[in-house]
Amino acid sequence: MKSLDSFPRVSLGVFPTPIQKLENISRLLHTNVYVKRDDLTGLGLGGNKVRKLEFLLADAKAQGAEVVFTTGGAQSNHAMLTAAAAGKLGLQAILLLKQRGVTDCVGNLLLERIMGTDVRFIDTDDYADIYAEMDRVGAALGRPYYKIPCGGSNPLGTLGYVACAKEIAEQGMAFDHIVCAEGSGGTMAGMALGAKLFLPGTRVHGMMVDREPFDEITPALMKAAAELLEAEMEITPADYLLRDVCGAGYAIPSEEGNAAVSLMAEQEGLFLDPVYTGKAFGGLLALAKEGAFRPEDKVLFLHSGGAGGLFAL
Ligand SMILES: *Cc1c(COP(=O)(O)O)cnc(C)c1O
Repeated sequence: MKSLDSFPRVSLGVFPTPIQKLENISRLLHTNVYVKRDDLTGLGLGGNKVRKLEFLLADAKAQGAEVVFTTGGAQSNHAMLTAAAAGKLGLQAILLLKQRGVTDCVGNLLLERIMGTDVRFIDTDDYADIYAEMDRVGAALGRPYYKIPCGGSNPLGTLGYVACAKEIAEQGMAFDHIVCAEGSGGTMAGMALGAKLFLPGTRVHGMMVDREPFDEITPALMKAAAELLEAEMEITPADYLLRDVCGAGYAIPSEEGNAAVSLMAEQEGLFLDPVYTGKAFGGLLALAKEGAFRPEDKVLFLHSGGAGGLFAL
């Protein structure tokens, strides 16, 4: 197997991120709950996309790109962090965002205005149209460009969370469960593959906050990332657990998610967001209620960031 260190990587964040015990939540849930503070990855307002961008933007630079395109919803944390990282690396970011009626200059759009980011809205729900538009704009600019998919969730971006699992192993604690949000899939797939490689005995739960076929997306990304690493392994459904916490739809707050945001804020002084981490933590609370965790278990919740979006809903 190839080492993660053999892949080009730019340094954007501050790692390792801390692991802290949530004492009050642990008491309430009668188990041991810890949080991996990937809201403190050290660029922009923090968040999971920083780990993926370290690999993706190294690849962009290696290919000689001057312009970086990415896409997402109007309040995409990924798009905002891509713009932040690109600026730091001297690359020009162009964001093609799905409008869906949202244009208020709040949350991540406000942060993009502060950075002077080139944000363009595109009136389609079809990512194929958006990637074609990137090629059109890129060709018209006549400068070398690099396309990052929605959420940075391609096999290379997925390595960011394989690296996170390795980092957790190196922090010297063993966990029975890891719980994370699953939006475009790379975070969960990387964590599940990384757990298989570096955290034997840890079960990884993907809390699905969107309506996509994650039962296909997750193993496909795991397999593709394993191939990049030249790791010989079978990926089976036993390697990942999925739970639907989407509610009425992606980026539509749910009652369970909002209750989880409040609980975390009241009990631990930490802020989750309504689109990803609140719904994911709501899923963790539901698992606890169903008796999925024993009193002696150690459960690690990935705080994947999302602060920008908290101010937009
Ligand atoms: C993008 C995002 C996620 C989901 O990660 P994916 O790799 O897209 O599945 C979770 N939390 C936050 C705050 C995010 O911005």
